[in-house]
Amino acid sequence: MGLMRQVLGESFGLFRQVKLSRPLGMRVRNASLVRSKAFVNGIWKGAASGEEFAVINPADGEAIGSVPNMNENDALEAVGAAYDSFLQWQETTAKERSHHLRKWFDVLQKNQDELAKIITAESGKPLKEAAGEVAYGNSFIEWFSEEARRIHGEVIDSPIKSKEMIFIRRPIGVTALITPWNFPIAMITRKAGAALAAGCTCVVKPAEDTPLTALALAALAEESGLPAGVFNVVTSGRDNAPLIGKSFCESPLVAGISFTGSTEVGKLLYKMCAKGVKRLSLELGGNAPFIVFKNADIGKAVQGAIASKFRNCGQTCVSANRLFVEEEMYDEFAGKFKEAMKAQLILGNGGDGVSTMGPLINDAQTKKVDGIVQDAVKKGARILLGGKKASSVGDRFFEPTLIADVDPRMLCYNEEIFGPIAVLIKFKNEEEVLRLANHTKRGLAGYFFSNDIAQIWRVAKKLEVGMVGINEGIISSAEAAFGGIKESGLGREGSHYGIEEFTYIKYLCFGNL
Ligand code: NAP
Repeated sequence: MGLMRQVLGESFGLFRQVKLSRPLGMRVRNASLVRSKAFVNGIWKGAASGEEFAVINPADGEAIGSVPNMNENDALEAVGAAYDSFLQWQETTAKERSHHLRKWFDVLQKNQDELAKIITAESGKPLKEAAGEVAYGNSFIEWFSEEARRIHGEVIDSPIKSKEMIFIRRPIGVTALITPWNFPIAMITRKAGAALAAGCTCVVKPAEDTPLTALALAALAEESGLPAGVFNVVTSGRDNAPLIGKSFCESPLVAGISFTGSTEVGKLLYKMCAKGVKRLSLELGGNAPFIVFKNADIGKAVQGAIASKFRNCGQTCVSANRLFVEEEMYDEFAGKFKEAMKAQLILGNGGDGVSTMGPLINDAQTKKVDGIVQDAVKKGARILLGGKKASSVGDRFFEPTLIADVDPRMLCYNEEIFGPIAVLIKFKNEEEVLRLANHTKRGLAGYFFSNDIAQIWRVAKKLEVGMVGINEGIISSAEAAFGGIKESGLGREGSHYGIEEFTYIKYLCFGNL
């Protein structure tokens, strides 16, 4: 432990803040799921440099483990291994890939509870939510094990008698999957399930904050018998992430990149992929409008808003970012929403089994959220509930906050808040709210509550987003086509469209027949 302390202290300056505690491996029943090495070509290995970094529980700042701080050379080694395995994996039949994915799904299901504990420990989300994420994350492996057998080509009527024309779908090759911390399992399985089903192999680069879940996924992939090199996980600290990203974008062995994360990093990758004209799929940030029309069922709208806004402490890309309420219902909605928040949101360590809302992921996020609230107050918004850090609970906890009278000058109106801050904006009519809701560069999810069928159809079509929740605050599932428009991204994940990101169409022309 002495050596590790030294490495951590020197490389990251984390040593001062980190309270070393009982490692997670001692708390999870299946200790083999808690890994401290990366997974490359079926081998558990450290960074060539020997560097490691600590994984921190955001609820209490304790170090729960450590993993290799790999760099671009380590990442390229994994790409090479993924390429070698691709040559064989692409030759497997759809049925064989389907069986491999099904076996992985089965062991994932067997270890649901343990996976949830790992997610809670490194991301801070309450155990119940973590269990929900595991069910959701695992469902992508099940779904794509089924979709693997439905990747079809087409036979086209040829205009010339002596020719026949066929389109077949082929896997693109090695894919690099870069994922965020807010859904440590689901953001990986949503990509990897589709990639493997299509016949691609992958190298996953999880976020610095949540590498342990990614490694647990790898441990279970290994246990399920997935061939070496098909699913690789390269862990790295934040300092190495940009160079790893660049090496993925520039490597001739990488056919495509699938990224989920911030719009800023997505744009960087987009630019870098231009050089090699790489296939790119981007699931980026949102700024979701949540609209409550005066004819809505207010009880359902309040519950929808609670679910959409406060899940994962507001740290979801589809979280309701701006709550627009028609003026006739504004005060009543504000009152009922506030009461629901007080009754349902219990702050605390996600592992305690009682809390319904955990901490923010790290200090930077806590500072950002605090700044957003202070900015709104300075510019004249009214705090109806909360409004400050919940320091008595822990350093990264923030009170569930409700802010009224928000206007477009405020950061909370324009930025993706990514915290437990609900902001209320009054509107006069449908035309005005559509103009306000669409006045953003983002276009991921949008929600509205209405009981007028004509209005429902009109608004659903006019909202400039990739996904719409109509009288519903939770819209995700493996069957759904997940993705955005505008600066929220390119491509779709989940559903049968998810596979398209990992295949290309090859046209075969049979002549002289
Ligand atoms: P982020 O900073 O963009 O990080 C995402 C991933 O990219 C992490 O693995 C990160 O590694 C890595 N990364 C950072 N800089 C990089 C670079 N220059 N090149 C290559 N990789 C790089 O985003 P985040 O803060 O983790 O996640 C929050 C964002 O993700 C929000 O905007 C949210 O809306 C979005 N999100 C979108 C979806 C969706 O489906 N549309 C789903 C979930 C989240 P490190 O952690 O080591 O920095």
